[in-house]
Amino acid sequence: MQKKSILYAILNYKCPRCRVGNIFVYPLTQNPSKFIKTHKTCPHCELLFEVEPGFFFGAMYVSYALTMAIMLVAAFILYYFFNDPEIWVYVTTVIVLILLLLPVVFRLSRTIYLYAFGGIKYNSSYSEP
Ligand SMILES: [Zn+2]
Repeated sequence: MQKKSILYAILNYKCPRCRVGNIFVYPLTQNPSKFIKTHKTCPHCELLFEVEPGFFFGAMYVSYALTMAIMLVAAFILYYFFNDPEIWVYVTTVIVLILLLLPVVFRLSRTIYLYAFGGIKYNSSYSEP
């Protein structure tokens, strides 16, 4: 079986051990209103995702960093490509962007946190069907 890259696995919210099973129950495109619903264990290799109680609280630091990055990119684009509009345009754009990207930021921050601090190593033997 072809080895899946860590970038592919993170961007597709895959389990860090097998990179096959999904961390979240529903795909974002199918059921965006239930973006929070997370599997307790990997549906493929049965890895327990919540390493310890409250483990995912740390993901809010990753979420904060991602949100700041989105704000900076939005401000940069508005400043250089829209000729420095009034302040209310900045505020409105950033608020709308953050709300629209909330499900993506939520999932990415949990996934990145799990990969970075979960202490789980990729094992290709778990990838097999
Ligand atoms: Zn797995």
